[in-house]
Parts: sequence; structure tokens; C-alpha cells
Amino acid sequence: MNVNKFYGLNELRKMYLDFFQSKGHLVMKSFSLIPHNDNSLLLINSGMAPLKPYFTKQEIPPCPRVTTCQKCIRTGDIENIGKTDRHGTFFEMLGNFSFGDYFKHEAIAWSWEFLTQVIGLEEDRLYPSVYVDDDEAFDIWNKEIGIPAERIFRFGKEDNFWEHGAGPCGPCSEIYYDRGEKYGCGKPDCTVGCDCDRYMEVWNNVFTQFENDGNGHYELLESKNIDTGMGLERLATIVQDVDSIFDVDTIKALREQVCQMAGVKYKENPKADVSIRIITDHIRSVTFMVSDGILPSNEGRGYVLRRLLRRAARHGRLLGITEKFLTTLSDTVIETSKDGYPELEEKKDFIFKIISEEEDKFNRTLDQGLGILKDMKAQILAGGGDVLSGDDAFKLYDTYGFPLDLTEEILEEDGITIDQEGFKAAMDRQRDMARKARKTTNYMGADVTVYQSIDPAVTSRFVGYEYTKYTSKISVLTTEEEIVEALVDGQNGTIIVDETPFYATSGGQEADTGIITWGDSVFAVKDTIKLSGGKIGHVGTVVKGMFKTGDSVELAIDEKKRSDTAKNHSATHLLQKALQMVLGSHVQQAGSSNNDKHLRFDFTHFSPMTADELKRVEDIVNDEIEANLPVLTKIMDLDEAKKTGAMALFGEKYDKDVRVVTMGDFSKELCGGTHVSNTGVIRAFKIVSEAGVAAGVRRIEALTGDGVFNYYAGLEQELKEAAHAAKAEPFALVKRIEALMDEVKTLSSENEKLKNKMAREALGDVMDQVQDIKGTALLAVKVDGVDMNGLMNLGDQLKARLGQGVIVLASEKDGKVNLLSMATDEAMKNGAHAGNLIKGIAKLVGGGGGGRPNMAQAGGKNPAGIDNALKEAAQVLESQLR
Ligand SMILES: [Zn+2]
Ligand SMILES: [Zn+2]
Repeated sequence: MNVNKFYGLNELRKMYLDFFQSKGHLVMKSFSLIPHNDNSLLLINSGMAPLKPYFTKQEIPPCPRVTTCQKCIRTGDIENIGKTDRHGTFFEMLGNFSFGDYFKHEAIAWSWEFLTQVIGLEEDRLYPSVYVDDDEAFDIWNKEIGIPAERIFRFGKEDNFWEHGAGPCGPCSEIYYDRGEKYGCGKPDCTVGCDCDRYMEVWNNVFTQFENDGNGHYELLESKNIDTGMGLERLATIVQDVDSIFDVDTIKALREQVCQMAGVKYKENPKADVSIRIITDHIRSVTFMVSDGILPSNEGRGYVLRRLLRRAARHGRLLGITEKFLTTLSDTVIETSKDGYPELEEKKDFIFKIISEEEDKFNRTLDQGLGILKDMKAQILAGGGDVLSGDDAFKLYDTYGFPLDLTEEILEEDGITIDQEGFKAAMDRQRDMARKARKTTNYMGADVTVYQSIDPAVTSRFVGYEYTKYTSKISVLTTEEEIVEALVDGQNGTIIVDETPFYATSGGQEADTGIITWGDSVFAVKDTIKLSGGKIGHVGTVVKGMFKTGDSVELAIDEKKRSDTAKNHSATHLLQKALQMVLGSHVQQAGSSNNDKHLRFDFTHFSPMTADELKRVEDIVNDEIEANLPVLTKIMDLDEAKKTGAMALFGEKYDKDVRVVTMGDFSKELCGGTHVSNTGVIRAFKIVSEAGVAAGVRRIEALTGDGVFNYYAGLEQELKEAAHAAKAEPFALVKRIEALMDEVKTLSSENEKLKNKMAREALGDVMDQVQDIKGTALLAVKVDGVDMNGLMNLGDQLKARLGQGVIVLASEKDGKVNLLSMATDEAMKNGAHAGNLIKGIAKLVGGGGGGRPNMAQAGGKNPAGIDNALKEAAQVLESQLR
């Protein structure tokens, strides 16, 4: 025995955290396996990963010294996991971190103290290594710790420099442990750094002292950090002096349980050992993933979980386990790990439920799928092939739930590979189809059928008339596709509870938004919707943590939004009454919509409202606001309510008991919405538009409360800016604009005259270019830089000068060609046709066009063709003339 004492995995974890606590470190709980606000990672894979914001200074650490034992999952080489006993997907990483606090001296001294004093590893079995250029670390080991120089190894960048692209980086110092000859390869040069199992790296100190700018330039960091990592399982392997992580106490217990279930012994049959290790490792990952709220699915983390779980289940079959067995193993994981992770025990039922359901699902499809795959395999082999088509692989995946890597693994035994490209193409095709098929979606994109499959017995009671906050139990959770047991960080979905203060969109009033919380978990409610059977759905996103069915959650609406919405809704009631008073009793509500921003009211009326009518309506509503009318609600029998003269929506189907909202003696309406307690709360009312929306239906848009003041503030700002731009005072702006308009008028008429003059000059004396074509005058000329309007102007002038004949003008402007042709009455009588003429020549300038016999225009892209086009004009005209 090379150590004094046997320490269990749980004991070692505690010893480490206690040790660093005694060195002034804050012990932090392991972070969730789900990275928070970090899209670069699917799962947390190191102790440092969740602390990134502290290293990059995006967040201030709760203490400059922190220590953690972090649960980690790495699935990069999942196909190889199990083949050897070196790696697993799940591991725990011990770490002590300094954020600009202590540096190399302390980090090195403490790592040495912990390994030799606390754990009791023999000093002469430990070998430090440093980065080749890091003399500072070398000297600390040599002079301060007292390690002889020949026992300190200097390694290059690959081994002892931590770097990840641009950003903070630095040299490392690792500590190796000599596990003795029995683990060695026996080669004469076997020493620290050898590939065999004798010298095991146990500790890695990373000294983050540089900033790499991404181009290989290293800048010394002002505040240097320490990032230490030590695999807990690996430390236990050394301390317990066992072959591999699979022999460490807690993991061995799990391994033994697998063997017992299968009736096999470890290390008897190499093939069985692979299965034993896969199950032992994967069930740990699976249990921890589910405890963090990751659920089996076909993408992202959920897919990783599904792969691991199904891989474990299948290897159970390979070992001859016929019963469901994963929850039993998961129970052992929980029992042996709850010391460090109490949440495992808390979520035990949930974990079992998820694992059990997925195992069932897999078992149901496995036999079927295996049968199909066997047929496919036989067919391939019979045909002399060695590739499974992408379509077949996809069929197994889609219909039988076979993860691709599982199919791959099964086929590998016969040397068959999968057409990966074909698989991807089949997957894309299916996604496209699914998208197209899902036409009946609500505005959150949720499949209508998700809600249809909820137990009809589930209902929700609205308590929002009295409360803006409430505690209630989650009865149903859904994603956008299916009913689920839990929703986790980043997922969109719907929460249904027994009682809610959230108002669902109805009666023209927009839904409440807000948040639902459970402990630290937060769900942002973006919309609240009424579902069939009296259910109220809170639609939104989990922004932090997770939610499970049965959780008692806190529901809190956005109170500002609710109160602004109430102002608009109550004002709508006042508006309806005011419209009836001003326009007549024919005014009926034809639709309404109010939210925290504005109100919209559609009503029956047959002509646009005059400015005077609008002002009177506005004044009446504002008077009733000023009158501070109490707003009261009462539940009444429908007939009784109608007798009292309460306004009801025409054609609306009401329940027998209705809610009546009265505002003083002024207004009485059947309404289920949420209102102000007193009309004075509305503060102000302002109509911003009135327009027709259909025959006999008008629409008013209006503002209340802050909305009115913001509206006027916006107008005032605009007016000030306009005045500033016009170099005038706001109240002199109209005069200033009139003066400016006069100026514009004068200037544009001058401009017009100048343009005409310039065009004439550009043309020069063209009358000598008039040609005679069969007795008809033709003037076909090119002018420069004139647009189509200019050409028309010019054409008119030339026509007047020419008297009778045909005019063709071509101009190049901004690399494009404008063509114009005109024919006088006399010329037309002789057969000339301007439209056909232009059609005949436009192709020579790379364009097309046409028009009437007397005038036509065309455009083109090829200025080089202008001369030819003008020559061609004579030919075309000649052919037209009789
Ligand atoms: Zn070796
Ligand atoms: Zn109402």
C-alpha cells in the first residue's frame, strides 16, 4: 500500500473543498450541466467553463477565491468510451480559482500541501512539470518546495500551455504521480510523460497570465488568474490504488450491480467488459443530466441524453439483461452521489420517471428496429455491398428511434458503414415536410394539437380581478410540440396552473405578460391565451432553471402593463357611450382592442366624423374622467342585466351569469375585462385617428394616461426640431413655411426655364440635319445628358419648328439610353407610326419599348448603339410611309 489511508470518492471531494475553504476560498455548489448564456458549449465540460464570466470580468465573482467540485460531461469520443477503462463521459472536476488574487506561489504550495499533507501521497512519487520557458514556476518548485531540479520536468506548448484561440491563456504546471512498476510498460525509457498507465497526471495548475490577441502576440495580463483542475475520479484511482476509474469505490459499486443484474463477472470477457463500462458510465451521465432538467429529445443536449440512455439500454440487452434496469442503477448513482449533490435526492421521482419512460420507449422500438436492421444488413451483405443507404438509416432513426451512432455501432460489427450525406438529406427533407404540414399554428408557433391533447378535466381559475401575484400548482407543461414533464433553460413552451392572476386575451383586452418563478427558476410569460375547457395557457420561455409538473410556482403579472391596459379598456367604455351621445343610438361596437399602448374601437356609423364631432366626443370622455366616477363590477343574471340597460355586444353569446361593469351613472356594459377602480385614474384621453375600415364601420384609435402625454411630448419635440430646421421659432413656423414655399415656386420656374435653354443649346442648330424620307421630314438626332422629361420638352419644341414630320431623339444619361419618337398628324396620315418606329430601333440600344402612333418612348442599356439606332430610324420610317 503506497498511501496511509483509504479515502472514498465522497470523502476526497469534501477534503478538497474543506482544504481550500481553509485557504480563504468560497465553496460554490456545482453549476448545472446546462451552460447558462453560453452558446459555445452543449454541456459543461470543465470546472472552469461555468466560471468564464468571472475570468472575462463580465461578472464580478462573489469572492476572489472560489473552489468547486463541478459535474462535467464530455461526449466528444463517445464511440470509444467503454472500449478502454481510461475515460468516461461523466466526471467530477475539483478546482480552486483565483480571480486576480493569489498566483503561482500559493497555487503551487497549496497543491503540494494538499497532495502530501492532506491526502498523504508519498513525496518521492510525485513529479511536477512546468512549461519549458516558465522559470518562475520552476524556481518555486525547486527553491520554495524543495524538489530537486532533476525531478522537475519541462514540457512544451502541447502539454504545458493552456490556450483556446484568442483570449486569456498561460503556462501550466502539472503534477504526475508514479503509480509503480505494476502499471508500467516496462520500457527502459519509461518516465513522466510516457503513454502507459504508470505516471498519471493528477493535478493541473493553469497560470492565466497572458492575453493572446489571436495573432500570436502575448500581452501580460494586468490581473492574473489561477484555474486549477483535478479529476476527482482520477485522484480516487490513485489514492485507492486501483486499476482504473471503474474500480473507484462508488463507481465499482455501480459496476458490480451491473454485473449482478447480468450474471456476469468483470474482467472475464473483454466484449462484456465494454458493455459493463458503457452502462456504468452512461447511467451516471444520464442521472445527472435529467437532474438538471435535460430531457430526451432529437436535438442538442436532449439528443446527447437520448443517445447515452439508449446506448446503455442496448448494452444491457447485449449482456443478457431482459428486464428494465436503468432506474435501479440510477438509484445507486443517487445513493452514492447525494452527499455532494443533494438535488439528486430531491428530484429522485422525477429522474426515475424520465428514465423509465425513455427506457420503455426504447424497448418498444428496439426489437422492431433490430429486426428491420437485421433484414437491411442481410440485404446489403447479399448484394455484396458495405454501405447502408441514408434513407434506410433515417427510417430506423425516425420510425424506430435508433440514434444514428447506435445503428453505426451495430453495423460496424459486420464492416458496414452508413451513407451519412444521404442520412442528412433525408433528415432535411423530413424537417421541410413537417414545417409545411404544421399550418394550423397559433402565433407562438405552437401546434394547435398540443393543446388538444391535454386532459379535458384540466381547468384554470382566473384570480386576476383581485390579485396581481399568486401561488399555484403547475398542472400541465407543453413545449411547442408535445406535453412534457419539465421545461428547461432556453425552451419555449406553455405553462398551465390551477389558479392564475394572468388575464388571457379576450373581450378586446390584450393578455397580461409577466413572470412565473419557482425558486431561482424563471419563466418569462410573453402571452396568455384561453384554451378550450376553461384552461389558461401561459406562453413563453424558460430564461433560467427548470419547471416541472406539480411545482408550486409564483405567478406575477407585469403590473404597469396591466394598469395601462386597464386605463385604455375603461376609456373604451366611456368612448362608446360618448359616441352614442354625439352621433346617435345607431352606434354599436363592431370590434375593439386595447393594450397598454393604445385603444382601438370599431363602431357602426355611416360617414366620417367631423372635427367638431371628434372634439365633442373627446371632451365628454375627458369630463367623465375628471368626474372621478367609481368603477364597479357585479355578477348578474343575463336577463336582469339587460333590463338594467347594460350594453351588450350584438350577436354575442353570453353565459347565464354575466359580469356588469358600471362607471357612475354614465356607462354600464357587460364585460369580463380588468378595469381602473375610478375613471380619474385614466388621467387623459386623446383621439389620434378616425377612419373607415369597412362599409358602415368606422375606427377610432385613441390614447390614455401616459400615452397622451408621451404623444404630446413627441409632437412638441417634432415641432421644435422642425422649427430649428427651418430656422424659426415654433410659433412662427407656419409663416416661415409659407415664405419657403414661395421661394421654392420661384426657384423651380427659373430652373425650368434654364433647363429648356440648356437643352436647346445642347441640340445646337439641328435643322440642317433634317432628312427627307419619301416627302416626309425626319429629324433623328442625339443629345447629351438629357432625361426623358427633357427629351419630351425638346421634342415639343422641335415639332413646332419642324411643322410637319417625324422626330427621333436619343440621349445618354448615367450610362443608360433614353429614346423618344414623335410624329405629327400629317406624317401619321402618310403612314408614320412613332410606336412602331421606336420598337424597330430600340433593340439596337439594348432595350425595348413602344407606344402610340404620335408619341413613344423607350429605354436601353447600350449607349454605343445610339448612332446605329438613329440611322436605322430612316430605314424603318421609309418602310412605314406609303
Ligand atoms: Zn511507460
Ligand atoms: Zn369592456
